Amino acid sequence: MAEIKSVGILTSGGDAPGMNAAIRAVTRAAIFSGLRVFGIYRGYQGLIEDHIEEFKTQSVSNIISRGGTILKTARSKDFKTPEGRKLAYENMQKHGIDALVVIGGDGSITGASYLAKEYDLPIVGLPGTIDNDLAGTDATIGYDTAMNTIMECVDKIRDTATSHARLFIVEVMGRDAGFLALNGAIATGCEDVIIPEEKPQYEQLKELVANGFRKSKSSAMVLVTESKDENGGALGLARKMKEEFPDYDVRYTVLGHLQRGGSPTAADRILASRTGYAAIEALLQGQRNVLIGIHNDHIVNIPFAKAIHQEKPIDPELLTVLRVLSI
Ligand code: ADP
Repeated sequence: MAEIKSVGILTSGGDAPGMNAAIRAVTRAAIFSGLRVFGIYRGYQGLIEDHIEEFKTQSVSNIISRGGTILKTARSKDFKTPEGRKLAYENMQKHGIDALVVIGGDGSITGASYLAKEYDLPIVGLPGTIDNDLAGTDATIGYDTAMNTIMECVDKIRDTATSHARLFIVEVMGRDAGFLALNGAIATGCEDVIIPEEKPQYEQLKELVANGFRKSKSSAMVLVTESKDENGGALGLARKMKEEFPDYDVRYTVLGHLQRGGSPTAADRILASRTGYAAIEALLQGQRNVLIGIHNDHIVNIPFAKAIHQEKPIDPELLTVLRVLSI
């Protein structure tokens, strides 16, 4: 296996707080080990379009506390084609980039696995997504910050909800995973949660209504994971509720993109720093095509195939905790 002398870093897909802390960690750990570092802007699209700049230690000064990603991120249709990935590979060769660290979610790691296979490249992934939907790692970079943002917002909505007798449906992100909704609901004492891991969303809502929304309470707050179905999500469910149960005073809120913003929490900065350092260690030890994660507070290297397109189960104990404590 050829010796690695330089590494490229990119952030891809949905942005997540803590990505900057990860960029800093990878850059500094690589320079510490004598590698050259190249920052690749706008994810895979920037790799294809040669938007690449050499990074020094100072390139990542004062970014650990900043949300978003200084490298910018993008969704790249071109990278989904073999022709696009060929251009990406050619630009890596042009700059002498021997290895890549990809910070992103399920889609980004899927793309990385194609590039790695087609050109026999050493690539390591870092789990950068607020959705926590990558298997094998207990948490992803950005998840804790997003959950704390949800907590602050839902606490505020609760103040108004308790002043009226209302059902509030609050939609949070998560794509196809209910982690943000479920743990967000526990953290804010919500009455219930509607997550994709259970039944279809509307069915879950009907059950809630049948149960009288916890009869002892005058107001109720329910978190729901976003949905591609127009009859789902907070808006779709609230509409249906109004049609079928006109007696309920239903309100909805979509938290939206504010969940992605803000300065990362200590937990996310530490996770990003540890996994970023471990990514360079893994590459230098000859590991390739692995996602660096954390399990039981230890760094783990998860083969790409085991991290992507995998069910990451919700712990049923969490649902029990939520429902028992909201009686
Ligand atoms: P995330 O990484 O947050 O899950 P996306 O699913 O949008 O975000 O993926 C980010 C990018 O990764 C895409 O824009 C594309 O360039 C690349 N990608 C995703 N899926 C594939 C795929 N099947 N083949 C090649 N590249 C992919």
